Amino acid sequence: MKCPCGSEKNYLECCGVYHSGKEKAPTAEALMRSRYSAFAKNQMDYLKNTTDPQTLQDIDEEANQEWAERAKFLKLEVIKSEEKGTKGTVEFKAYYSVDDEEYIHHEVSTFRKQAGEWFFKSGKVKEAKV
Ligand SMILES: [Zn+2]
Repeated sequence: MKCPCGSEKNYLECCGVYHSGKEKAPTAEALMRSRYSAFAKNQMDYLKNTTDPQTLQDIDEEANQEWAERAKFLKLEVIKSEEKGTKGTVEFKAYYSVDDEEYIHHEVSTFRKQAGEWFFKSGKVKEAKV
């Protein structure tokens, strides 16, 4: 099976390596892609473990999971990614559908590197719908 993140690689050789904990995502972009795949694969623990603990307090995990179960993940498009030291930003569009209705989630996410590991810090939504 091809990886949901759009790499054209096999899932087990792509984001699956990060989901299983075998390796840590080496870049902010890799982490972002693997988090998209985690939504697609309903790997909620991975999403939790790669979120900054402070950010986690503000996240409704149940709502996230419910959404992940209902949505179909169609495509991920990374528009821009930047890294400066321990800070990373990734702008992306996530294409998904719910009840056959297609949506685009356009977001600029910021990431933070701590002890060699990237964490999702915050996201700013640019436009909620097509
Ligand atoms: Zn992948």
